[in-house]
Amino acid sequence: MIIPRPTLYRDAALADPSGPSLRKDASVLVDAGRVVWIRSSTDEGDLPPSVHVIDAGGSTIVAGMVDAHSHVTLPGGSHWIDRGADPPEELLEVAEHNGDLLGRAGVRWARDVGSPLAVDPRDGRRRALALLVRERWQSDPNRPRIRVAGTWIGHSGVLTGGLAIEADDGPALLQAASTQLDDGADFLKLYLDGPKKEEAPWSTEDVRAVVELAHGRGAKVTAHSGFLVGARVGIDAGVDSLEHGFELDSDAVGKMAHQGTFLVSTLAIFRSWTSFAQTTTLPRFVGEEGKERIARRRDGAIESVHLAYRARVQIATGTDFGGGSLRANHLAWEVEALVEAGLKPWEALASATVRGGDLLGETTAGRIVEGGPADFFLVHGDPLSDPTALWRVWRVAWLRD
Ligand SMILES: [Zn+2]
Repeated sequence: MIIPRPTLYRDAALADPSGPSLRKDASVLVDAGRVVWIRSSTDEGDLPPSVHVIDAGGSTIVAGMVDAHSHVTLPGGSHWIDRGADPPEELLEVAEHNGDLLGRAGVRWARDVGSPLAVDPRDGRRRALALLVRERWQSDPNRPRIRVAGTWIGHSGVLTGGLAIEADDGPALLQAASTQLDDGADFLKLYLDGPKKEEAPWSTEDVRAVVELAHGRGAKVTAHSGFLVGARVGIDAGVDSLEHGFELDSDAVGKMAHQGTFLVSTLAIFRSWTSFAQTTTLPRFVGEEGKERIARRRDGAIESVHLAYRARVQIATGTDFGGGSLRANHLAWEVEALVEAGLKPWEALASATVRGGDLLGETTAGRIVEGGPADFFLVHGDPLSDPTALWRVWRVAWLRD
């Protein structure tokens, strides 16, 4: 086994997303996967004798990002829904590819909000495939750290392809939630869009019972929310976060801010769909009617995130890769979309780093601190003022080169 030497990243800029300005002339010493110190490059002091110095001049150090809405077992692309029916062996290979893509894009943490059910070879039970991925990746420092919601819990007639566990009333919902936690899910994912767009799938009381069950077992509850009626039920029931939040009003975001309900934004979905008008022949992306529908939903979603931002809702950032059409290395696209929705670039970077860590309840995720994990990557440009810098990844400190 090769024992890694201490590594010094010398003379980089450091992007701390608590403010708009880079810290320049920064040197960071890393040993055994941890940040030993961060000092001025002109005053590094004594260095370990065997140190490996990396001239990081011209680059910017950024904390490893958190993709707070991901589907690690699914590939994304314009046929993303069909891919959910692929054989589990294939989806496990997809997960490994995604793990690689995430790391190289500077994403250290992925929060998996739904994976297909498959027979677990370890005990023959059907459970969410991402639970198996979590176990595989636990001991591999090159792979993202993940938290897994198990599979989707939805009302019948909503999610196609047999992907979700279906629950049509309160007792069934509670049973489904309990089974997910028994299977080892870190948190729960409810699908708060109903079979009818204007009706929530469950009552506030039914969802509240799930929240109480999960909290009692130390787990959080998140909810897919495409429409306002479901968002209201989730917020009133006390879910910990809403995913997408494509249709929120000022009353909803006010309550979210007051309660500390997170919003996980996934606005880049619409950018992706818009790009498919150029790159596919699928009528719902290419046709005039489809384009209009996408533009309408996009504008509403941007307005919702803008309202949430103005109300000071805590916003974390997700790609929805796999469960939507983005790919695993596209988180920068969402950071760009947040800036379009009104966040300052450094605030959008905070959403993709520290806020994601806060949502996960992981105190070191998305942060660079002395004594903490050396989970950072280096880009060219200033991501505190320009989110496109996040596409220009030069190296990733936690990956073996
Ligand atoms: Zn999703």
